Amino acid sequence: MTLVGIVPAGGSGERLGAQRPKAFVVLAGRAMLEWSVEVLQGVCDRVIVAVPASASASATAESVVGGSSRSKSVRNAVHAAPEASVYVIHDAARPLVTEELVRRCVEALGEGVDGAIAAAPVADTIKQADGRGRVVSTLERSSLWAVQTPQVFRADALRTALDADAATLAAATDDASLVEAGGGRVDVVESRDENFKVTTALDLRMAEAVLGERC
Ligand code: C5P
Repeated sequence: MTLVGIVPAGGSGERLGAQRPKAFVVLAGRAMLEWSVEVLQGVCDRVIVAVPASASASATAESVVGGSSRSKSVRNAVHAAPEASVYVIHDAARPLVTEELVRRCVEALGEGVDGAIAAAPVADTIKQADGRGRVVSTLERSSLWAVQTPQVFRADALRTALDADAATLAAATDDASLVEAGGGRVDVVESRDENFKVTTALDLRMAEAVLGERC
């Protein structure tokens, strides 16, 4: 099995309000993306980072130029590593990932499974509302999962999924949805809220606090 890790880091991360792309914001002493690169390098044979055209490369991993959407960034990295039998995709924006979680996702890729994705059980009640803010329904919480990365895929299933048209790729918020759309089987792997996505300045401070405790 040849494991190739991919770190999509090609976004601008405007919600963070920083002067540079989010993945390059310094977090606990190094660029945010390097935390994820280090963890994937502990598990994978090779790690590729997709970076914005305007940004510098990763200091510690191979880099490719990202695309106009997250899925296109992933596709560029996939094309750069055709030898993979399994792709391990993990967003640069989730720097608190652990090797233990990555390994559990890889192990979950059993017979007949195309993808295994980290996800946390939903703690809030989730409602659906119409365009005017009127509640339409309350969803059954026990079957809902807040999906994260890592997302681990059999290489052929991911390559086929990324062959989708440009509009489909642009609309996808994760890779698993593209695999699901093609009829692939995707399983969830229980994760914790601690693997949260850094989106706001408050998230950045919380991530600093957790990494400070770990070091
Ligand atoms: O915007 P969001 O936080 O959902 O982005 C998730 C991940 O996808 C981030 O790590 C971001 O850098 C990456 N991304 C990318 N290429 C883009 C847009 C986002 O690699 N064009």
